[in-house]
Amino acid sequence: FMATGQAASNLTMFIPSLIDSGISFRRIGEVLSHSPDVPEADSPAELTPLADGIRLRDVTFGYTEDSDQLREISLDIPAGSYAAFVGPSGSGKSTALQLLARFYDPREGAVTFDGLDLREVSEASLRMHSAIVTQDSFLFNTTIRDNLLFGSVDAEESDMIEAARLAMIHDSIAGWPEGYDTPVHNEGASLSGGQRQRISIARALLKRPSLLLLDEVTSALDPATEADLNRSLLQLRGNRTLVSVTHRLASVVHADRIFVFRDGRIAESGPHEELLRQGGLYREMWDKQHGFALSQDGLHASVDEG
Ligand code: ADP
Ligand code: MG
Repeated sequence: FMATGQAASNLTMFIPSLIDSGISFRRIGEVLSHSPDVPEADSPAELTPLADGIRLRDVTFGYTEDSDQLREISLDIPAGSYAAFVGPSGSGKSTALQLLARFYDPREGAVTFDGLDLREVSEASLRMHSAIVTQDSFLFNTTIRDNLLFGSVDAEESDMIEAARLAMIHDSIAGWPEGYDTPVHNEGASLSGGQRQRISIARALLKRPSLLLLDEVTSALDPATEADLNRSLLQLRGNRTLVSVTHRLASVVHADRIFVFRDGRIAESGPHEELLRQGGLYREMWDKQHGFALSQDGLHASVDEG
């Protein structure tokens, strides 16, 4: 039982984390009455911006007790670097990303943020220093401006515009008759998937999180816009730690380290050139996406249906 004031402040700390996890306002009330999946430690540590790195240490995880979606995964993402998760559909990329955001706790092993086990840190401080853009990004039924400023109420107009520019959505918004005051209806259903994704990225960037987790955020974009967005995300390197899940390999060429997932494990990891040279799963995926097939006569361009 909590005093009213404390309950209220816990509530306001909790809501942003629900927003980040992609739960709509409609469902927030529903969820608040249930105990969250991940318990808060008794005396949780307060995180500061990521300075050393984020790690998975021998992590095994299953959505149910008798399943293993991730098996003994270890990976190390230094602060300020750009890491990419690639691999076949269903191989565990989004699950691993969600563990980095502590949507779930591992069954075995640990996720550490600057060496601190996420189970020991305050959820509010994790939400303050990290942001995740999930695949099913949606908007609230309010103006574009309020959507962008959600979680960053102190941001200046110029910060908002800078974030929107970085997310390659400013020009679209500025071109609408009502600009940033354009109302959103139906959680953004009137916008294209790519516009919703870019608005969600801008919202995340505006928080200036030291850790930015992105799940397939370029999936709905045309290749030219995707390339622009990738260039702009690359500018963040050094100041922000970026972890990006994608099946579009063209966007991971410049990653510091690519983790190739297969069947809940990491099959290979390294920078692009090294993985190409290794001639393993990454090479196979790369050749397929770039329309090359090796036949007896040598290398032939083929039509890529993917
Ligand atoms: P990827 O992002 O690489 O496509 P996911 O991490 O989404 O893979 O999924 C890994 C495995 O976990 C898949 O078999 C998928 O069906 C399963 N899975 C994903 N989300 C859930 C969930 N919420 N509940 C149960 N199983 C899930
Ligand atoms: Mg996924």
